Amino acid sequence: MEQVLITGGMGFLGSHLIERLLQDGKEVWALDLFEPAFAKQLRKYEHFHLVVDTIKNKVKLEDLIRRCDLICHLAAVACPEVYVNRPRHTMDVGLISALDVVELARKHSKPLFFTSTSEIYGRNPQVPWSEDDDRVLGSIDVSRWCYSTSKAVIEHYIQACSQEDELEYLTIRIFNCYGPRLKGRVLDRFIDAALLGEPIVVHGDGDQTRCFTYVEDLVDGITRLLAEPKAWNNVYNIGTPQETTVLELAELICDMTGSERSSIQFTTHAEAIGASYEDIPRRVPDVSRIKRTVGWSPTTSLQEGLRRTIAYRSQELAVTHA
Ligand code: UDP
Repeated sequence: MEQVLITGGMGFLGSHLIERLLQDGKEVWALDLFEPAFAKQLRKYEHFHLVVDTIKNKVKLEDLIRRCDLICHLAAVACPEVYVNRPRHTMDVGLISALDVVELARKHSKPLFFTSTSEIYGRNPQVPWSEDDDRVLGSIDVSRWCYSTSKAVIEHYIQACSQEDELEYLTIRIFNCYGPRLKGRVLDRFIDAALLGEPIVVHGDGDQTRCFTYVEDLVDGITRLLAEPKAWNNVYNIGTPQETTVLELAELICDMTGSERSSIQFTTHAEAIGASYEDIPRRVPDVSRIKRTVGWSPTTSLQEGLRRTIAYRSQELAVTHA
């Protein structure tokens, strides 16, 4: 049975990917700092193991990497407010620990699946972005870019190892993935505010766009890539090309939860997130590479994905507020 290590396995994407891998008959080792409530759902699988430890424990990390056949490195800080307020921590996880994982995968000749980000392209105004498009970033004084830069350094290093035939890799760049259990991003914040009868706070004028990608579509794309030998040693954008403005998202969530649109308020980015923040006006993937390689396209509409995410969160809130 194939043994798979998922670093950051109890995070949003990790938890969904693990469930799919277990259903596909893999033995999964999750490494994370904590055991959240939903781990109970995964514990019903005989071949699920959760190791509660820090990725900084290199002895444990090496032990797990040695044991597993495939290393999926998901552990990262993926929240713009943390990039701005805790840049050292963001880079400690996203750069230093990621480098440890790559080095150990290389040392033990284990294939590495790396989750990179659409932040790689920065604020390149020429959308949609193909994998070989330019990275357009701001000044080092703007902390937002520390996350993009960390992921980019790791991508460079992985490619360099591969060029020297020292590493098999598969890298994806994720575009605004959402679904049940997401925490700390625009979509789950708006849903929570709507369900709790609080103001929905839009940063800026709400004209900025994102391409919201439902987590099940993303997991489907990942499993197709992992299973296709021809897909390896390459980088893939993964996301829906459908653009939605942040204001449209707020309005849609109001309509779907029965909240008044008048609960939408506006504030500036500086006020909401801090001075060392810069927003990205548009972020759109060109997904022709993944489509060509494994025939993947997203199939879940934003309405359907929101319906499922709102239903999940309503139930969760009903339990916690009971
Ligand atoms: N945003 C917002 N209200 C919130 C949270 C985020 O208007 O309560 C905006 C944020 O400023 C950005 C967009 O929504 O323009 C997407 O933010 P998110 O935190 O999801 O991450 P990003 O896509 O920027 O990485």
